[in-house]
Amino acid sequence: MTRPDGIRAVFLGPPGAGKGTQALELARSLALAHLSTGDMLRSHVARGTALGQRAKAFMDAGQLVADDLIIAMVEDRLRTDLADAGWILDGFPRTVPQAKALDQSLRSSGRPLTHVVYFAVPRTELMSRLTGRRTCSKCGAIWNVTFKPTTVDGVCDLCGGALAHRSDDRPEAVGRRLEEYERSTQPLLAHYRVSGCLIEVDASRVPSQVNDQIVAALRRNAG
Ligand code: AMP
Repeated sequence: MTRPDGIRAVFLGPPGAGKGTQALELARSLALAHLSTGDMLRSHVARGTALGQRAKAFMDAGQLVADDLIIAMVEDRLRTDLADAGWILDGFPRTVPQAKALDQSLRSSGRPLTHVVYFAVPRTELMSRLTGRRTCSKCGAIWNVTFKPTTVDGVCDLCGGALAHRSDDRPEAVGRRLEEYERSTQPLLAHYRVSGCLIEVDASRVPSQVNDQIVAALRRNAG
């Protein structure tokens, strides 16, 4: 499909709601930039940067990384290569201070958010989605041992890369991530409801139906 102009979207929802899967797919089909703070942090950890070393213990424990570190990391990207293109922010903001910092920096650049897509999924479903999730270490594709298995166990169907089980997708960390979400991120719904660009999708459906709901919403509200 052609790209609706000027999309600056935040994907908001609990871990395991499918934000990453949908963001990857929509970034490809709509030619938008995809900025995942989780992917950026994992890359810092893999490269052993100072930020990666500070973030790793929090990530492994299923806790949020400090706001000032995350805000600096995202603003850096928004200032540079993402400044002109349409984009999707996946996994950011996750706290009210992060949302306020984003509002402020977008306001000062004259490019406010156009869409906040909220992925609604019952909590009971999230646990099995997260513990079964496997991520391709080469292309980032997301699979699930139960809901979306690869043809060959442990090997990505798309690129042949090895699948990884994220340390924070292990059962002990998953419970903490869901609690952290409810405490820190859920309040963002009220924050964005006021701004009038909040769209709720039923993310308990199969990925193609979730995709259809988001595309329809992006087209409806495209500026
Ligand atoms: P994700 O891949 O989005 O589930 O992120 C993995 C982990 O990275 C999270 O559990 C947090 O530890 C950290 N993280 C990612 N994004 C943020 C954020 N916006 N604020 C704080 N921590 C984050």
